[in-house]
Amino acid sequence: ATPVSILVGTGRGAALGVLFRRGDALQALSETRVVALDKTGTLTRGRPELTDLRTAPGFAREEVLAAVAAAEAPSEHPIARALAAAAGSAPAKAEAFEVLVGKGVRATVGGVRVEVGSGRFMAELGLDPAPFAEEAARLADEGKTALYAAIGGRLAAVLAVSDPIRDTTPAAIAALRERGLAVALVSGDDARTAKAVARRLGIAEVVAEVSPEGKLAAIRRLRGEHGPLAFVGDGINDAPALAAADVGVAVGGGTDIAAEAADVVLVSGDLAAVPDAIALSAATMRNIR
Ligand code: ADP
Ligand code: MG
Repeated sequence: ATPVSILVGTGRGAALGVLFRRGDALQALSETRVVALDKTGTLTRGRPELTDLRTAPGFAREEVLAAVAAAEAPSEHPIARALAAAAGSAPAKAEAFEVLVGKGVRATVGGVRVEVGSGRFMAELGLDPAPFAEEAARLADEGKTALYAAIGGRLAAVLAVSDPIRDTTPAAIAALRERGLAVALVSGDDARTAKAVARRLGIAEVVAEVSPEGKLAAIRRLRGEHGPLAFVGDGINDAPALAAADVGVAVGGGTDIAAEAADVVLVSGDLAAVPDAIALSAATMRNIR
């Protein structure tokens, strides 16, 4: 490999909004056989909005909204921003705030413990999300993310946030497939929601409901099945997978932690840059040989 070609390729990348943080990333990208993508913030805009809220008997809508907004206010997760904004007024002060990565948040609001997160998280707390199962399944089939709120240790509500697919995503996925690459979705989100999104994009392979470590296990398996792997993600929860992939690609506008773990950063945050970068890497390597 001539250093000059790599330099030229890297320079062209910069013009496309693709920043190569490692010299050998260009070559690694050209050898990619499978592209695994995170969902939230990567395939979707990462700016979800609260669309549904159903309370359990004994809980009032305003009370639940206020508690959830307060508990989520300190979090930077896109879901948290949607929920914190939904209450309208400035959120109450939360104490003992905790993030449970890939699951939800916990905080004390006005002396009462509040937990917000996935059904799996509720089950781990010993709360049975079954009373809301039908509602949650319907929401998930609409591609929405169903969440639960627990207040004072009792299941208080099911909520849903919806995060639209980015306008540029369908064409980017199609371009990857046209290059003969395998495409997989690897998400911490609920399996039904992830499958609804994958279906719309024609992505057949879906790994869902995984922790950051689960994402790591999933990419190892995908690499075993398909060959060299690029992982595309934006969040703190993606950092282990970004670091472990043959090529970690961070979507710009995501978290700094993701960018630091990645080999390649898409400055524009536009997913179209992924097939562009792969095409560029292939062209650069062809010139070298
Ligand atoms: P993704 O892999 O799709 O980016 P994450 O790993 O960030 O998703 O989150 C996985 C799941 O954990 C979410 O779908 C949600 O159910 C739950 N979750 C994570 N963070 C929060 C939060 N701040 N509030 C509520 N739920 C959350
Ligand atoms: Mg994400």
